[in-house]
Amino acid sequence: MNPITEIIKDLTTPKKLVITMHQKPDGDAMGSALGLFHYLIQFGHDATVISPTNWASFLNWMPGCKAVIDYDKDTLKSDALISDADWIFCLDFNTLSRTKNMEQALLKSNAQRILIDHHQQPQTEVFSFGISDTTKSSTAEMVYDFIYASGYQDKINDAISQCIYAGVMTDTGSFRFPSTSPSVHVLVSDLLKRGLQQSVIHENLFDNFSENRLKFIGNVLLNRMEVFYEFNTALITIPQNDLFKYDIKTGDTEGLVNYPLSIEGIKMAAIIIDRGEERKCSFRSKGNFDVNTFARKYFNGGGHFNAAGGSSKEPLESVITQFKLAISENKNELSTYQF
Ligand code: 5GP
Ligand code: MN
Repeated sequence: MNPITEIIKDLTTPKKLVITMHQKPDGDAMGSALGLFHYLIQFGHDATVISPTNWASFLNWMPGCKAVIDYDKDTLKSDALISDADWIFCLDFNTLSRTKNMEQALLKSNAQRILIDHHQQPQTEVFSFGISDTTKSSTAEMVYDFIYASGYQDKINDAISQCIYAGVMTDTGSFRFPSTSPSVHVLVSDLLKRGLQQSVIHENLFDNFSENRLKFIGNVLLNRMEVFYEFNTALITIPQNDLFKYDIKTGDTEGLVNYPLSIEGIKMAAIIIDRGEERKCSFRSKGNFDVNTFARKYFNGGGHFNAAGGSSKEPLESVITQFKLAISENKNELSTYQF
């Protein structure tokens, strides 16, 4: 993978571009992709954002989101765009398998694949150009850095500001995770000086849910959470029936995994959701417990040091058993609490 700075000289020559991100995009994946989109179209490029799957409706307010193509829904059109592209920007994922059904189309395309990402252990051999920096708060921050590195920061408009702010804010847990470096606050200061209305973005992202979702959360906290004090760990398990009962949509379960971390002394929180076709897991930790390694070792996943995910095709009960075994194998690391 060559440095991303090598593409800067070609930025002003119009091309066919595809911008994509990991499946079930979160605020950072969608925000970084749309932020980059609003930047690149200003050079006359023919750019399309394609998401590998559908996404949470609380992202729909983002400028440009309604024009994003869902690969699963519009596969033929997406395949044609991917095959015809000169450049494909791959944002907020480290391995092509994170694009699910889109992976083969990405591999087949003759386009140059360009990576912008902050996850650990990137699959660098499949990208022609790119930047991987695991110290960065978010891919959205990296898109902002790329805009500055290319020297056209005068092109940062309100659409770009909104998308980048949403990505940085969601991936830093509203500026509370250790990844919230001084550069993050400088970025926010810059966007505010440019006129960004940040409280509107917080409302758009966090105050747009259904009454059902709140009742669902009440049920989860009351009936679906188990705390293992011996391991400083808490686990939420959600059977598929709950998803039907409360009419839970994509995105409605996002952030749930963080609730148990507010219990004193809890060092790791996990959630296992039975999504029918698979059991999806999320892991969050505080301090020195590495959930990236944990997710890789036991749940075919990965992510960051303090936030990772994985999945399993096994039944829910087996995944729960596997989780309990995994925490007992990590008892030493989990029982010593250190920041
Ligand atoms: P979440 O738990 O919010 O889905 O994801 C937390 C972090 O772990 C994100 O950075 C996400 O990209 C990563 N992640 C989530 N699920 C998986 C997975 O199945 N495989 C890998 N490699 N990373 C994942
Ligand atoms: Mn991210």
